[in-house]
Amino acid sequence: MTEPIALSKPILGEEEVDAVREVLASGWVAGQGPRGHELEERFAELTERKHAVAVSNCTAALHLSLLALGIGSGDDIVVADYTYPATGHAVLFTGAHPVFVDVRSDTGTLDPDAVEKSITPRTRGVVAVDVFGQCADYEPLDALCKRHGLFLVEDAAAAVGATYHGNPAGSLADVACFSFHARKGITSGEGGVLVTEDSGLAETARMLSCFGVASAFDRGQSVDLPIPSFELLGYNYKLSDIQAAIALVQLGRLPEMLKIRRAIADIYGEHLSQVVGVEPPAEPGDREHTWQAYVVALDPGISRDRVARALRASGIEASIGTFASHLQPVYGNAPSCPTSADLFRRQLAIPMHANLTDSQAEHVARSLATVVGQELRDA
Ligand SMILES: *Cc1c(COP(=O)(O)O)cnc(C)c1O
Repeated sequence: MTEPIALSKPILGEEEVDAVREVLASGWVAGQGPRGHELEERFAELTERKHAVAVSNCTAALHLSLLALGIGSGDDIVVADYTYPATGHAVLFTGAHPVFVDVRSDTGTLDPDAVEKSITPRTRGVVAVDVFGQCADYEPLDALCKRHGLFLVEDAAAAVGATYHGNPAGSLADVACFSFHARKGITSGEGGVLVTEDSGLAETARMLSCFGVASAFDRGQSVDLPIPSFELLGYNYKLSDIQAAIALVQLGRLPEMLKIRRAIADIYGEHLSQVVGVEPPAEPGDREHTWQAYVVALDPGISRDRVARALRASGIEASIGTFASHLQPVYGNAPSCPTSADLFRRQLAIPMHANLTDSQAEHVARSLATVVGQELRDA
């Protein structure tokens, strides 16, 4: 049997290998070294922000952002419900309480009206999520956060290269967090970065990523014997320079990889808009998607799980979209978010990555149409 068509597959090649070889030869392989600083500069440029801090993953970036914003126990933080549970976890790490709020039925992103209704005197801030690489509604979200004196965090884990109203993802909130996990648009295996205009926030986040002291590399630049003092209970969330070097090469490939993903999305959209029972993803005209994942919704009468199993049996990987956070046992008895719960039940992710060929995409679309047609006949 031929290999299945993967849901996700990074493009990693000789350039990444060469970059790693250089780091290994350089003598600095730990975190916050030269490659890390270069990655931070490039990310600050890309997102049009003053500061970037490279860290070990996006969950760490979210955790540090919230800590640097002064969040802790007794605080309520509004969190978009439809997301990978890293978002809610990061809030819980700080001792604050995540208040999961429902999402738009078309884009799966945080519903600004629902946020407005959820605000109480304990609310300190809002974490919006760029679901599958498509930005949330930052204009109304920013306006309501300003009106209520709340901070706004962008979980842009999947959104490297996305835009909203012509502005890059990362520039749309007080702080934004990106992921370089293997399934994201650019990858170093694991990794992440936070970006912000706020120099105090960036400095605190950087210290907290390194045990609460300045980095050893920066100290090593001094001819003196600087003995650090530990001011804060920091973590070890640094991104190694080996990973930073890989992420830098990936960042260079970003335009090309986005172009391929967008072409695949166009092929899927063309084929699937004709298929009864399948709703292709919404594409509001005021924002550019990165297509980290391509996720359709199936009609309520169709079993998403059976469709996914049938596709997998035919050699096409398929999976759920993402998670309804409020339904995860770790968060206890959270109030319901019906739209998010519905998307969690009905959405289906099909293969999307920059290694797909046009003919594979056509094959996937035709197979999905066949399987859904069969389900509708059997219903
Ligand atoms: C992947 C993802 C995360 C977690 O990123 P890591 O780098 O794996 O920690 C957080 N939020 C969203 C929306 C994600 O898709």
